[in-house]
Amino acid sequence: MASPHILLFPFMSKGHTIPVLHLARLLLHRGAAVTLFTTPANRPFISAALSDTTVSIIDLPFPRNIDGLPPHVESTDKLPDMSQWPRLAVAAKLMKPYFEQALNSLPRISFMITDGFLGWTLDSAQKFGIPRLVYYGMSNFSWSLSAVASQSRQLLIDLELDNDKLFTFPSFPWIKFSKNDFNPEIVHPEYQDKLYREFVLEHVQATAKSNGIIVNGFYELESVYADYWNREMGPKAWCVGPLCLAAPPRKKQENYQTPSWIQWLDRKQEEGKPVLYVAFGSQADISREQIKQIKTGLEKSGVNFLWVVGKNQVEDDDGFEYRVKDRGMLVKEWVDQREILEHSSVQGFLSHCGWNSVMESICAKVPILAWPMMAEQPLNAKMVVEDIGIGLRVETSDGSMNGFVKWEKLEKVVKELMEGEMGKELRKKVKQVGGAAAEAVAEGGSSWNALNELINELHAER
Ligand code: UDP
Ligand code: UDP
Repeated sequence: MASPHILLFPFMSKGHTIPVLHLARLLLHRGAAVTLFTTPANRPFISAALSDTTVSIIDLPFPRNIDGLPPHVESTDKLPDMSQWPRLAVAAKLMKPYFEQALNSLPRISFMITDGFLGWTLDSAQKFGIPRLVYYGMSNFSWSLSAVASQSRQLLIDLELDNDKLFTFPSFPWIKFSKNDFNPEIVHPEYQDKLYREFVLEHVQATAKSNGIIVNGFYELESVYADYWNREMGPKAWCVGPLCLAAPPRKKQENYQTPSWIQWLDRKQEEGKPVLYVAFGSQADISREQIKQIKTGLEKSGVNFLWVVGKNQVEDDDGFEYRVKDRGMLVKEWVDQREILEHSSVQGFLSHCGWNSVMESICAKVPILAWPMMAEQPLNAKMVVEDIGIGLRVETSDGSMNGFVKWEKLEKVVKELMEGEMGKELRKKVKQVGGAAAEAVAEGGSSWNALNELINELHAER
């Protein structure tokens, strides 16, 4: 049998692309040929990340002049405002004829793994008789609970007036939820515009008809939820992660120069000062007022911190950077987050709980201060704090999921993690979980085996 040829098509955002680049490496390692689809503006980032591999990259023309989208933006993390993202996702559908042209000219394809938000690729896959697996970048925990919550919408709506009321779902009687654990979109799809609702419906239906789901996680972390999903929901979830463990070590790459923030962390290590890493992913929009509270909270806590501010503007109109210069560093560039998390002086992570950040933190054995901001992040935060037990929740002032956080709450929880007994316990626990993650991806581990089975099963069918 010829070796497998696997096609990958990640969605146009860093959070959906980076893990798929790691997956490409795993597939190459199993002897597969890999072709990866993207768009012209996203190509340089991907080519650079995969420059040491044989992945062949095809960029399809991305539609121009779409209403409500700035020209030349082909990625959600380049959008000035995240509320525009459904437009970008819908525009992506216009790539379909180019995608099919490319499928026509490629050597025989064993199967494709395309992003959940590219639901239209199922139709192309079916036309060409190619199995399609879906990548969403969500845990089984979030998958299962989002599905159960959508099925129980009326229950959630009935709780409308009482945000703090706790309830359970019959399938998961051991977890107490409040309405704030769910993104309002799940409870009230009608709040979203028509374009978005149709888009969601389309990609959810396409997922249901696909051949499986690739989960960036490992079975032992969430066996109950993986089993539930495979028994009650489907299509079959394949847990093949944490994918970040497939990334090559940074220092082995050619032309490596130690970035200034890593040098700073080295100095903190010499001083024996633990550092809190602060970052909210590639796309969260954070208000000016909220940024002020973060500054005050970090300053009052007295801890050492490295804050990657990303696309959010942190204005230095109050001398903040000068006042904290001995113990705080602000970074405005793109960083290698794994390299930071793996630095031994980093002892805590204030995170929005994007699923990649959670996986990377676990693998680096760093406990989390969970501050979810959008999408399925509240469920990730719940899992981190209550289910896995490797973090503390940052409280919002009104208890709502994406509410405002006052500096006093932030200061308190930062000190608890960095200086308190609780922090020590959580560090112990995350070491165990991180160890289990490494075992899962090692030869003979659950993720290793799952990837082999997946390739054998789908390739043999063809
Ligand atoms: N990029 C991307 N998607 C886009 C636009 C740009 O991934 O829609 C990537 C691009 O490949 C490059 C990086 O972002 O690696 C910087 O792009 P840009 O030209 O926008 O420069 P910036 O102003 O962000 O430094
Ligand atoms: N990331 C990075 N450097 C940055 C910002 C983000 O490497 O400066 C990576 C981070 O390590 C993670 C991804 O971008 O792999 C962000 O994904 P996540 O799910 O954490 O959050 P999102 O950006 O999707 O909200």
